Amino acid sequence: MADPRVIVLGAGPAGLGAAWRLRALGKAEVTVLERGPTVGGNAGSFTWRDHRLDYGSHRLHPATAPGILSDIQTLLGDDLRIRPRHGRIRLRGRWIHFPLHPLDLLLRLDKGFAIGVLRDRFRKRRVSAQESFASVLAANLGPTICDNFYFPYARKIWGTAPEALSAIQAHRRVAAGSFGKLLAKVFRALPGARPPMTGRFYYPADGFGQIAEAYAAAAVEQGAQIHQGWTVTALRAPQDEGAPWSVTAERGSEQMDCVGDHLWSTIPIPIVAKLVQHGGGTVPFEVLEATRQIRYRSMVLVYLELAQDQFTEFDAHYFPGASIRITRLSEPKNYAGRNVPSGRTVLCAELPSSPEEETWSLSDADLTELVSDDLAKSGIPISAAPVGVTVRRLEHAYPIYDPGYEVPFQILDRWAASLPRFLTYGRQGLFAHDNTHHALAMAYAAVDCLTSAGFDSARWTTYRQEFETHVVED
Ligand SMILES: Cc1cc2nc3c(=O)[nH]c(=O)nc-3n(C[C@H](O)[C@H](O)[C@H](O)COP(=O)(O)OP(=O)(O)OC[C@H]3O[C@@H](n4cnc5c(N)ncnc54)[C@H](O)[C@@H]3O)c2cc1C
Repeated sequence: MADPRVIVLGAGPAGLGAAWRLRALGKAEVTVLERGPTVGGNAGSFTWRDHRLDYGSHRLHPATAPGILSDIQTLLGDDLRIRPRHGRIRLRGRWIHFPLHPLDLLLRLDKGFAIGVLRDRFRKRRVSAQESFASVLAANLGPTICDNFYFPYARKIWGTAPEALSAIQAHRRVAAGSFGKLLAKVFRALPGARPPMTGRFYYPADGFGQIAEAYAAAAVEQGAQIHQGWTVTALRAPQDEGAPWSVTAERGSEQMDCVGDHLWSTIPIPIVAKLVQHGGGTVPFEVLEATRQIRYRSMVLVYLELAQDQFTEFDAHYFPGASIRITRLSEPKNYAGRNVPSGRTVLCAELPSSPEEETWSLSDADLTELVSDDLAKSGIPISAAPVGVTVRRLEHAYPIYDPGYEVPFQILDRWAASLPRFLTYGRQGLFAHDNTHHALAMAYAAVDCLTSAGFDSARWTTYRQEFETHVVED
């Protein structure tokens, strides 16, 4: 019997991980359709003026499952390096090292903050009846850390008051959700108490996107077809049991049609609902309504080129404070520890936004001014005007967990599950604030579920429960 044909939508880590593994295990013929000109999605890299740049700060976390890590090590060889984390947070007008060092907390933070944190530790707190992101974190960590760090940061990242975010965001998405865990994290940094990889991360020599590129190259070598620059515009569901999916993609004025036995989508699930034609009719009204009720946060990335070797020794600066508009500044050269090109470096500023906000459509010159102002206010001014600027905009950067978001998401999810031989997964497909290693884990799980008897939905349900336990690593 011929191998089944799988069409994969999206060439981010979720799509590419599946494409490579399906081919490596000889389970299916694979065609990947990707809208962007390059592979990698939000976890990709691009080259600009000799600089290799990522879409905001990206690191491969040591929590990556051993089997996946070993595949990445095999694919990248010596190019996958272990790097020390060396960042800092701007907290109440001072810098503290990130990851947190106990000595830094004692010596560098002002006394008011340190006393507040200790007082909060021992003070009994009332748990609010109405659970929200704010109430869960306030109950676990107390007001000092919340008001100075988590709450203003959350307002900027998600563009929403912490009180108006779902408690699920706090339960599942904040790595150090309780005081005990936070302190444990802090004290693990003590000499002798440190597990081998704490404070380190994996990073490829040629940018984070090298991981996705390596998966793509290996998949193509094994016979997968990857079409870049093609936007999927229509998905026609099988009319009867043996019939295939038919997918239309467009590139400028060109059009391409593909057929496949299975359709695996890693693109945002609301987009899928708008593209599917099923049973000769349109998608049910409640499904279309649900697409309007889940929201993604967008991100403007401002890259400033400076005529100097290095701006600072730090890989990333974090800005939780409300008076600074950007959330993070990274210096890509410091991630790989490389010094090319010499005499120039790039800063990447992350500015959460949305297409309705003014910041989304600011000109390059205005964005340069905004970032320069923020850096001057933080005490790290750019000494000479940038010699170049380029901007990238990510429309689907983070899922926003509005209270009750799980209801419209479930409507979409159940509808997707009702489509024949269709799978939605990955960060955009499952509306999950997940890391790259989680997206790859989903891809591997999907491939595991494809058997000679078809797709094992029961096994996938078990995997979905495992995905619920993913905690995003910063
Ligand atoms: C600012 C930022 C920092 C991050 N930092 C880290 C980090 O340090 N470490 C880490 O592990 N993770 C990090 N992440 C998360 C990481 O980027 C994601 O986990 C990863 O990209 C998810 O992969 P994915 O394949 O599920 O989705 P995506 O990477 O979003 O890929 C989806 C793909 O679908 C394509 N697509 C969409 N619509 C269409 C269409 N109509 N037709 C064809 N193709 C389409 C997109 O172009 C994209 O390539 C970060 C994310 C952001 C936004």
